[in-house]
Amino acid sequence: MEYDVIIIGGGQSALAVAYYLRRTSLHYLLLDSEARPGGSWQHGWHSLSLFSPALWSSLPGVLMPGGQQYYPSRDETVHYLQEYETRYQFPVQRPVKVLQVEKQADRYRLDTTAGTYYARTVVSATGSFVNPYIPDIPGKERFRGSLLHSSSYQSPEIFSNQRVAVVGEGNSGAQILADLAPTADTLWITKQPPTFLPDDIDGKYLFDAATMQYEAMQQGKDFQRPSLGQIVMVPPVKAARDKGVYQHYLPAFDYFYEDGIAWQNGRKETVDAVIFCTGFRPALAHLLPLGIIQPNGKINTRGTAAADMPGLWLVGYGQWTGFASATLIGVGRTARKTAEEINAYLQGN
Ligand code: FAD
Repeated sequence: MEYDVIIIGGGQSALAVAYYLRRTSLHYLLLDSEARPGGSWQHGWHSLSLFSPALWSSLPGVLMPGGQQYYPSRDETVHYLQEYETRYQFPVQRPVKVLQVEKQADRYRLDTTAGTYYARTVVSATGSFVNPYIPDIPGKERFRGSLLHSSSYQSPEIFSNQRVAVVGEGNSGAQILADLAPTADTLWITKQPPTFLPDDIDGKYLFDAATMQYEAMQQGKDFQRPSLGQIVMVPPVKAARDKGVYQHYLPAFDYFYEDGIAWQNGRKETVDAVIFCTGFRPALAHLLPLGIIQPNGKINTRGTAAADMPGLWLVGYGQWTGFASATLIGVGRTARKTAEEINAYLQGN
């Protein structure tokens, strides 16, 4: 069977596109490799909370409950996405992993774990969670402790009474340190000195600062983004700060040795585990056969449309696929534009 549109993914980005497509007469389908709704939020650590307040964390059509002062938890976010999907009865098939996408004349062929599908247009909305980034630091294979990425961190129990290095000065690093600190001996490793937002400024600030930068860019103006800090003082981070958890931090280390991490200046620290909170890269492996992935791991885009591949759109991966598109509040705007463009493209064809 051939669809007008197949959306690859079933997280917030895929749902936002589906929200706008359901207002058209197009025949569309979502293929998601997860067994259940909620996208990658299902795999966040147990105590994970959004750093954007509820009022600033909604997809189009349904307000995230909680208001301006509340930071929804992982489970509340998964629940919100589940309800969203149920409310609009989106046609989602799962678990179906898209293995590769090929262009055949004027349609796409999608080989998946559930067989082959065909579509006139494709939206890739696979996020980046399945493609965690760990810097290439020498000596990894020698290190006898555990080495993991924040994407597989769940809860502090297994690190109890251990010495744990947390790498990364972003919100994930700060939140995981707060989680571990009561029961583990923690070391914070940061590339740059960490910066904290004042207590009375919530995560909406990051969105506003990014908006100002985006608007200036649109008008071709130079703009120095105001930087009050990056780490949002959600309640567990505030509590950890008050206990002194963030007082000390060390610069990026240079190599691993058997029992820990080390710097060229001779400093060595024994650690049982290293948790990398060092971000993600776009999950685009399924698009490799199209030959359009650039050396930087991205695809050239005009808005969300793939610049060199008519009929393909990319939604939710970050600034290169639309302003703030990797956030709950931001993805709606790019999703709407994407659905409009797909409709026009298919009418034109
Ligand atoms: P995902 O949620 O990753 O969904 C992608 C879906 O595609 C998944 O279900 C995946 O299984 C599926 N998939 C992947 N590959 C394939 C394939 N080949 N075939 C089929 N299906 C596939 N944003 C905010 O707005 N506020 C916050 O406070 C906030 N906090 C964050 C905290 C952390 C720790 C992280 C990591 C992110 C945070 N974000 C936040 C950013 C963003 O909202 C999330 O990353 C979000 O999950 C991205 O949604 P998505 O739909 O693009 O991707």
